[in-house]
Amino acid sequence: MQKLKYIFLFFSVLPLIIKAQELSCYHKFTPSQIQNVKLFQQKLQNNPQLNLQKSTQFVPLKVHIVGNSAGIGYYSITHLMSALCEINQRFAPVGFHFYLAQPVTYINDDALNRADFDAIYGVAYEAKVPGMVNVYFHNAGSTWCGVYFGDLDIVLVKNSCQMPMATTLAHELGHFFGLPHTFLGWEGGGTPSPSDIERLDGSNCRTAGDGFCDTKADYVSQRWACPLPYTLTDPIGQIFKPDSSLYMNYASDNCHSRFSTEQILSMQNDLQSRRISKVSALNNLLTAPQKIAPLNLDSNVSSKNITFKWNAVPNAFAYHLQIARFGDWNFLNVDRLVNDTFVQLDLFGNWPFAWRVKAISEGNTCTVFGSIDTFYTNENVTNVYEVSEALITNISPNPIRKGELLSITPIENGVINIYQPQGKLMYSEAVNNSLSFQIPDWEQGVYFLEFVGSNRSFIKRFVIHEN
Ligand SMILES: [Zn+2]
Repeated sequence: MQKLKYIFLFFSVLPLIIKAQELSCYHKFTPSQIQNVKLFQQKLQNNPQLNLQKSTQFVPLKVHIVGNSAGIGYYSITHLMSALCEINQRFAPVGFHFYLAQPVTYINDDALNRADFDAIYGVAYEAKVPGMVNVYFHNAGSTWCGVYFGDLDIVLVKNSCQMPMATTLAHELGHFFGLPHTFLGWEGGGTPSPSDIERLDGSNCRTAGDGFCDTKADYVSQRWACPLPYTLTDPIGQIFKPDSSLYMNYASDNCHSRFSTEQILSMQNDLQSRRISKVSALNNLLTAPQKIAPLNLDSNVSSKNITFKWNAVPNAFAYHLQIARFGDWNFLNVDRLVNDTFVQLDLFGNWPFAWRVKAISEGNTCTVFGSIDTFYTNENVTNVYEVSEALITNISPNPIRKGELLSITPIENGVINIYQPQGKLMYSEAVNNSLSFQIPDWEQGVYFLEFVGSNRSFIKRFVIHEN
């Protein structure tokens, strides 16, 4: 029976360990960083009323997005915008507000994309901009969600660990500002000597564990779901579960919501000593820019060298541009920050595309997008074929009701494809002179009729109504 129990334990614990390796963080402090935190904790001990920071400090941030050597695997701008927006909400109680001090830059490097140590000490360190918080988002390889090396003073975050509502970045920035794990001493599965184990009653909270007296004892060095599914016992026999709410523990991201007051004071002390922050930054929510080109519903946009243009918004740091075929914002064709009020881009094929743009200020990426415009690309736009759609084909009636006959009259032979609003092909048929087609029991809405001829192709919209 005893044997069976161990076998069961072995198999039930194994997946947890594998998961922990994938999701944990790798950080190391310099001896002077450790010393500084200890000195500050002594200060806290002598002066519990300590109040360091009078007003919000604006902290300069430099974002590096790393891909492989072919430029694949970039952290998306959409995710970056929400990560920065969220991090400022999470750090609001700390009194820190991060702002983009420089444009986002891209690094194509296979080794750094895997977070190999050589590349972190080489490529990443060379790209570091002094005087700001340098954060690198990478895509692959590493078993760690987050990395902070004190000697380089840079933070690396794996893309998949910083999806919306994740707390990896908050945790690593905690390390950046000197915070240890709440379970300090237990990392890597080790057990501290009994005198170094933090007791639940707080009697050794300055000398054991993380040295902060308002973070509860914590001995768990693997990722855990909250509440902890088992109990811990301190050196004098007190049974407890650790506080899951602190960013600096290893509880699941959804358990995290705060830094403790002493952790906050310690980070403020660290920031002061760095002398990199300023007392103001442009952090207002900006209005959406007015779009200029392409025109809404333009049905004859060449798919190459399309100029996207909008009016300048005062105080904009950059513009976030999104373009999605069929307006499906889950599958973006373009997702980028533009530092100017226009950009030239290539798209492809003969499709309806939707586009939207927003202005972000250096300290506020939380802005929502403006209105959505639609246009239709045409790969065959040339001087010869610049004829209006009406001359090329005729769809009637439009709108049409289910069961009615749709008649299509193109001026040359080709293939008719019909797509539903999300882009799924619903119908495909070759046509000669004309085609009549009875509308099946499809959902009502806007459909796209694509004509592919030997000389030209284009998209037209038509609407299906309920009876
Ligand atoms: Zn950590």
